[in-house]
Amino acid sequence: MHVIFFGPPGAGKGTQAKIIEERYGLKQLSTGDMLRAERASGSDLGNRVSALMDAGALVPDEVVIEMIANHIDSDACKKGAIFDGFPRTVAQAEALDEMLAQRGKKIDMVLELKVDDSEIIKRIEKRAAEEGRTDDNIEALKNRLAAYRDYASKVLPYYKSRPVRFDTVDGQQSVADVTKALTSLLDGQKGGNGQKAQHNGGPQ
Ligand code: AMP
Repeated sequence: MHVIFFGPPGAGKGTQAKIIEERYGLKQLSTGDMLRAERASGSDLGNRVSALMDAGALVPDEVVIEMIANHIDSDACKKGAIFDGFPRTVAQAEALDEMLAQRGKKIDMVLELKVDDSEIIKRIEKRAAEEGRTDDNIEALKNRLAAYRDYASKVLPYYKSRPVRFDTVDGQQSVADVTKALTSLLDGQKGGNGQKAQHNGGPQ
């Protein structure tokens, strides 16, 4: 199963992806985590994207598309993947669809986590104190929220116009309740879709 977790910074995508990864054996593929790892390693790529990340701007499509392409065939992704923070542009979404189609696979579900801006600001302030991410400051956060609104207004309609299951979950609930909502949707999809082995043409 291939699932996209979509939502603003601080919506809980990473937290939930890690829980779902364990429970379902799906691999969390977070382009944000991959980029932070590149940066921490001091690679050329990491240095190139560092300023964009600090400013809360998107890095070039080719960079993140290649990162996903480098992981999609790994053993860890055998049962499927949770895309966390990817795709953020229609070009990325198209590249992902193509990448999966070439492998006889597809996106099975898009799950949007909805959280109010005021709650996001509270959460990011807390994360800044705990983790010290260099893009978790108010200026960068404003940019990331603006970037989110912009790309959500393009990427969400892309998926809504495709034959893919789309659901929205209230991300303001407790972590446990969000997990419950997500697992019930995922279980419904697994059962309702007759498990694996079919490519497309499922309902909606
Ligand atoms: P995240 O941890 O997902 O919030 O990502 C942190 C930062 O990494 C973002 O603010 C962007 O600068 C960059 N980034 C992560 N994923 C993507 C993506 N799919 N497309 C472009 N930039 C990304």
